[in-house]
Amino acid sequence: MQPFPVPKNEKARVQLLHELELLDTDADPIFDRITLLVKDLLRADAALITLLDEERQWFKAKVGFNESETPRKASFCTHVIAAGETMVIEDATQDKRFCDNPYVLQREGIRAYAGAPITLYDEFHLGTLCVICNQPRKFSAAELRYLETFADWIAATIADRFEIDNYRAERDVLAQGPVCAVVWRIEPDVHLSYVAENAERVIGYDRDFLLRADVNYEAIVHPAEREELLARMQRLIDGEEDALEMDYRVVRELEGRKVIRWVHHFARADKDKDGKVLRVRGYLLDDSKGKQLELALKEANQNFDIALNAGEYFTWSWMLQSDELDISHRWQVYLGYVSAEQEALDWRELVHPDDLQQLQARVQDHMRGSADRFEMRFRIRHHDGHYVWVHSIGKIVEFDEQQRPLRMTGIHHDISEQVANETFLQQQAEILELVSHVQHEFMLAKDFSDVCDYALPKLMNMTHTSVGFVGELQPSSRQRNLVLAHGLRIAADAKDTDAFGKLIRQGLEVEVGGDVVKKVLLRGEPEFCHEPISELELQFKPVTLPPLKNGLILPLYFKREVVGLMILANTNQGFERRLLNLLRPMLDTLGTLMHMRRMDEERLAAITELRRLATTDELTGVANRRVFWEAMEQRFDEFRRYNAPMTVAIIDLDYFKKVNDTYGHAAGDEVLREFCCRSKEQLRDIDLLGRLGGEEFAVLLPYTNEADAILAVERIRESIAATAFQYDDKQLKVTMSAGVTELRSSDHKIDDWMARADEALYRAKEKGRNQTVTG
Ligand code: GH3
Ligand code: MG
Ligand code: MG
Repeated sequence: MQPFPVPKNEKARVQLLHELELLDTDADPIFDRITLLVKDLLRADAALITLLDEERQWFKAKVGFNESETPRKASFCTHVIAAGETMVIEDATQDKRFCDNPYVLQREGIRAYAGAPITLYDEFHLGTLCVICNQPRKFSAAELRYLETFADWIAATIADRFEIDNYRAERDVLAQGPVCAVVWRIEPDVHLSYVAENAERVIGYDRDFLLRADVNYEAIVHPAEREELLARMQRLIDGEEDALEMDYRVVRELEGRKVIRWVHHFARADKDKDGKVLRVRGYLLDDSKGKQLELALKEANQNFDIALNAGEYFTWSWMLQSDELDISHRWQVYLGYVSAEQEALDWRELVHPDDLQQLQARVQDHMRGSADRFEMRFRIRHHDGHYVWVHSIGKIVEFDEQQRPLRMTGIHHDISEQVANETFLQQQAEILELVSHVQHEFMLAKDFSDVCDYALPKLMNMTHTSVGFVGELQPSSRQRNLVLAHGLRIAADAKDTDAFGKLIRQGLEVEVGGDVVKKVLLRGEPEFCHEPISELELQFKPVTLPPLKNGLILPLYFKREVVGLMILANTNQGFERRLLNLLRPMLDTLGTLMHMRRMDEERLAAITELRRLATTDELTGVANRRVFWEAMEQRFDEFRRYNAPMTVAIIDLDYFKKVNDTYGHAAGDEVLREFCCRSKEQLRDIDLLGRLGGEEFAVLLPYTNEADAILAVERIRESIAATAFQYDDKQLKVTMSAGVTELRSSDHKIDDWMARADEALYRAKEKGRNQTVTG
C-alpha cells in the first residue's frame, strides 16, 4: 500500500514536473508576491506554492513557513493532488488522515488548511497554492475562490513560460542552423529591415552592420556577381518573377586579406492582395563547404591519377589459350591468398558477380580489336571475404602463328580507398545539398509531406534501398507505438507510392511494434539489420511493408528527445556503419522540422480553440453573453447613424426548474441545446441567438421592425410548444415566453432597450406563459 494517495497519472505527472525544470530553482519575486498577497487575503499564518515530486513537496514560494521542503508522506497537499480539487481542513486534529501528522502534532502545529491544485493541461496536478493556520477555522466561499483563481493563474504562468522556453529553444536551433533569414523592405527605398542573429556565422557580416542605413547589401557581394544579383532582385521587386535562386560570393576584408564565402541565396516576394510587392524575404546559406567538397573531390581525382602513374603496380600475365593466369606474388599476398591455394582458384570466381560480365566483355573488345587495350575498374574478393576495388589495364603482347592472341599482360592497382573517398565525399555533398533544400522547402511551404516526398527517394537512391519510410511519433501515444506517416515509398511499385501519398495527406497513422522498433523509439538507438527482419522484430499496421531482407531503422531526434523514425530497407549492398555519420545532418534536420511542424499545428489548434471558447457558450454553442452584447452595441450605433430598425427579443423557458427536478440536470441541458437548434431553424443568418445565462436567451434581429420580429419569435415559440423534446425514451413538454421590443430613438443606452424587453417578458410570464408580449 502507498503511504500517501497518488493520482492516476502519477508517472506522466512527475515526468512533466521534471521537464518543467522548476524544482530546486531560485525564488521568483512574482510568485513570492502572490503568496504574500494570498496569506493576507485569507488572513492565514502561512501561504505556500508547493510542487510535489516522487518523494517530497518542495516550495517554490513560501511565507510564514520555515522549511524549504517536507516529505511527501507528511504532506497535506498530496491529497489535493490525488483528488485534483480544492481541499479544506477546518481542524486537522479532528481528521483521521492528519491527526497524527508531525506538523500537526508539533507546537503551534497546523490546524486549518486550504489548498487549491495547480493544474497544467487540465490533467496534471503539479502542486498547490495553499494556506495554513495555527487555529481551527472555516474558509468562506470567496476566500476559496481567491485561492483557486490564483492557483489557476500560477498554472497558466508556468505553462506560458514553458512554451516560451520551447520557442526560444526552437529559435536557437534555427539560429545554429546553416540558413540565415533576411527581409528587405521596399518602401521608401530597398533596404534590409530584418537580419537573423546567425548572419555573422552564415555570411560573415553581423546583423548591426547589415542593417545600417549607409550600408547596401550588394556592397558585400563579389563584383563579378553583383550586377546579376541586383538585376534579379529588381525583377523580383517589379513582380516579374516570384522567386530567385542564385549562388554568389560574399567578400570580406580581414586584416588586409580578402575572405570569400560562397552563399546560396534564395528569395521570394511577399505581395498584398493587389499583387503589389511589400517586401522580399531571403534565405542565405553558407555553401562554402559544398564548394570546398567540390574542390576536394577534384583534388582526390587528381591524387588518384598521380597514384596510378607513380604508385606500385601488381602485374599479371594471362595465357589465353590455356587460360593460365600468372599473378605477381605480392598481389596474392596482398589479397590474402598463399600461392598454393591460389592455383586451385579460378580468378573468375574472385571477381564480384556484378562486374564479371562487363569484365569479360571488355576483354573480348580488346581481343577482337575494337579496343586498343583492356581497361576497367572492378572488384575482387579478398581472402577474408570483402571486396577490393581494382583498376586494371592490360594488353595482348603475343600472338601465335595464325595471329591469334596468345598472351595478355597487365597491371592491377588497388583503388579501394580512392573509390570509398570519392563516394563518401560525393554523398556528403549530396546530403548537405539535400538538407539545405529541405529546409528552404519547409520554410516556404510548411508542408512536411512534401519534404519527405522530395528527400526519401534521394536517400533511398543514396543507400541503394527500395523501401523508405519517415514517421513522426504521436505524442498522444503513451506506448510510443503510434506513428504519423509523412513519407512511405516502395521503389518497385510506383502505384503503391501514389496511393500511400494520398493516405499520408489524409493523416495516415501507423501502428509499429517489435523489438527493433522498441529499441529505436524507446531507447533512441539506431538499428542496423543485416539479416531478414521478422514480424517479431518489426510490425507495421495497417499498411504492410514488403518482406524486408535487411534494414536501417533510425531514430529522429529533436534536442535529446526521439520524435520519430526513418526506415531504409532492402539494400543489395549492405549497410556500413559510416552511413550513420553521413545521414546525421539529414536526420537532425528531419527531427527539427518535425518538431517545428508539430509546434505550428498545436499553436494553430490552441488559437482556434481559444477563439471558439471566447465567443461561444459552451453548452449550446450559441453566442455567449459578451459577444451578444457587442453585437447589440454595434446595432445600436447603426440605428443612431442610419435609423435602421432593430428589434431584440428575450426568451425564457417556462417552469424550467421542473424539468431539472423531474428528469435531472442532464435532461435540462439537452433541452437547452435542442431549444437552440430549433430556434436557429426559424431565424435568418443575420439574426443572432445568444445565451444570456441559465435558461434565458436573447435574439437580436437587425433591420427588422417589431411586427416582423414578433412573427419570427412566434415561429420559435410554436415550434417549441408543438413538438415535445425527446430525452432518452421520455417526452418532455416545454414552452417558452418572450418579450419583444424595437429600439426607439428615446432609448439613451442599450440598457433602456433591454429593460423594456425584460419587462415584456415578465408580463408574458404573468399572463400565463407560453406567449410573446411586446414592450
Ligand atoms: P419560470 O417559468 O418562471 O421561468 O420558471 P423557471 O423554473 O424556469 O424559473 P427559474 O428561474 O426559477 O428557474 C430556472 C432554472 O433553470 C433554475 C436552474 O435549475 C435551471 N438552469 C439554469 N441554468 C441551467 C443549465 O445550464 N442547465 C440546466 N439543466 N438547468 C439550468
Ligand atoms: Mg424560466
Ligand atoms: Mg429564468
